[in-house]
Amino acid sequence: MAARTQVTWDYVIVGGGSAGCVLAGRLSEDPGTSVLLVEAGGKASGLAIRVPALIQRMPSEFDWLYSIEPDASRGGVVDTYSAGRVLGGSSSTNHMLWARGNLADYDGWAAAGCFGWDRDGVLRAFRQAERFEAGPNRYRGGEGPQRVARGRVAHPLTDAFISAAVHAGYPWLADYNAAAQLGVSTVQVTQRRGLRHSAADAYLAPARTRQNLRVLTDALAVRVMLERGRATGVELRRGSRSATVRARREVILSAGALASPAVLMRSGIGPMTTLERLDIPVVADLPGVGRNLQEHPAAALTFEVRERTLNQDLSPFRLARHALNFAVRGRGAITSTASHAVAFGPPDVDPPIPDHELIFVAYGLSDVSASSGGERRGPLRRLMTRTGGREAGRRQAASDPLVTVTAAALHPRSRGEVCLRSADPLDPPFIRQELLGDARDVATLTEACERVRAIAATPPLRDAIVGERTPGPDVAGSEGWARYLRDHTFRLYHQAGTCAMGSGPGAVVDPRLRVRGIQGLRVVDASIMPTLPSGNTNAPTIMIAEKAAELIRMDRA
Ligand SMILES: Cc1cc2nc3c(=O)[nH]c(=O)nc-3n(C[C@H](O)[C@H](O)[C@H](O)COP(=O)(O)OP(=O)(O)OC[C@H]3O[C@@H](n4cnc5c(N)ncnc54)[C@H](O)[C@@H]3O)c2cc1C
Repeated sequence: MAARTQVTWDYVIVGGGSAGCVLAGRLSEDPGTSVLLVEAGGKASGLAIRVPALIQRMPSEFDWLYSIEPDASRGGVVDTYSAGRVLGGSSSTNHMLWARGNLADYDGWAAAGCFGWDRDGVLRAFRQAERFEAGPNRYRGGEGPQRVARGRVAHPLTDAFISAAVHAGYPWLADYNAAAQLGVSTVQVTQRRGLRHSAADAYLAPARTRQNLRVLTDALAVRVMLERGRATGVELRRGSRSATVRARREVILSAGALASPAVLMRSGIGPMTTLERLDIPVVADLPGVGRNLQEHPAAALTFEVRERTLNQDLSPFRLARHALNFAVRGRGAITSTASHAVAFGPPDVDPPIPDHELIFVAYGLSDVSASSGGERRGPLRRLMTRTGGREAGRRQAASDPLVTVTAAALHPRSRGEVCLRSADPLDPPFIRQELLGDARDVATLTEACERVRAIAATPPLRDAIVGERTPGPDVAGSEGWARYLRDHTFRLYHQAGTCAMGSGPGAVVDPRLRVRGIQGLRVVDASIMPTLPSGNTNAPTIMIAEKAAELIRMDRA
């Protein structure tokens, strides 16, 4: 295929996701700088993206659904990695929970060789990014592009969960994204008046009329063009056509933790042995590319309760009432994501860095097989169900009143890797990851699940609960939990770490996010996290890109 067009920009950004949108918005603020944003997916449109409760109806065309090799640590299960393939990337398809992690996590990054990424360095970028509805203070931003709201679904069982957690030792936190993180709180979400506010809404929409910014959708970046150790542009594919775009200053990879390392490897930057095996000419031997893949393993406990939950709100009559509440006040069940309250613990640990996150929602799924007799399986129930991997098609919204608490291990020791199957850009990457490959992660998850049980056994939640539905009281003891977790652990889609920042031999980028040994090339997305922070990954990724924009501007000056 012949190259068709050739255009030059100051910066070419690959991937219009959480990080790419921030960079495109920030770098194009200077009218003297031209920016091209290249996104493989299309424009973000449709109610499933916009309306939180319709997330379950997200069309599969908006998702890469990367398949993962059989996981030996979980009985050989083959499941998929979800990642947004649309403008806004995963910020357009995620569950909207806004959690920065613990400020000490970033001190840890700095101590490990990431100069400038300590708590003070990142706090400024977090504040710069957000417009928190409760207003600014020392820790929170009030003027940034990214809307952050408190969850807008009030439910008595959420209050009961919070009270029980407080009685079980988790301090009440007015704001878990401020000085202290250990404790329990209601969630904060990337919403504006109850609707999703993605990174594309926050950073691209206001930049839409800028003459110096071009957004190219449905364009797949094949490889970075390199001349004498310098990135000069990107080779693209749009449908059956090829094109090249040239970068005067820099190419920035923001394709996400599963795609950025793949683009690097296709460009000849990666582990030499892998590149040679695939007949890709080696430009830079960087053994860390694709390694260090991290994810938060999670497991859910469901409890049958005495009062109505969102499961009962699925009747057409109640749905109409919620629609009205939503239309008039931008509140209620329609704004519901998969989280209503969140706790970080253990609460009594020193230093105060959590090892688990508990996510509460007044809603629950049940196995189709276990309930096919009694369950109603109408379209509304299917509407509220979104599962992947081994659960696909097996679970649906329960008709009984259920609540769910998802427990996640925040600092997994297990590591996976992303590699290429071939040099063909249309071949999906090879992903290997044993989610429970390290016994310490199983122990942390077990302890977190036991904490959920302790909260459920504490008033006032105890009084609202009829019984534990899953896994049920038969699962107990370390061996019982290990067996259960092997079959039921799932991922939160927090893939990170595959182009790690640092200064050691495994580092792919330096603390200014420049690819080692190459001029004019950076990686800016979740793949540069050396380790996962103590929380969800969207807020940290947006922070990373805010900070990167500043570094790029400084380097240019
Ligand atoms: C289903 C789901 C639920 C989640 N829930 C939460 C949550 O509630 N809270 C939270 O904090 N985090 C959540 N996350 C994680 C969070 O959204 C991500 O960590 C974050 O968005 C990652 O940002 P990124 O910029 O690294 O990648 P992405 O946002 O995934 O962006 C990468 C972009 O690059 C594009 N791309 C890839 N390859 C190419 C190529 N070759 N050429 C051109 N473009 C390419 C992709 O299409 C995509 O738009 C969730 C993720 C998923 C998938």
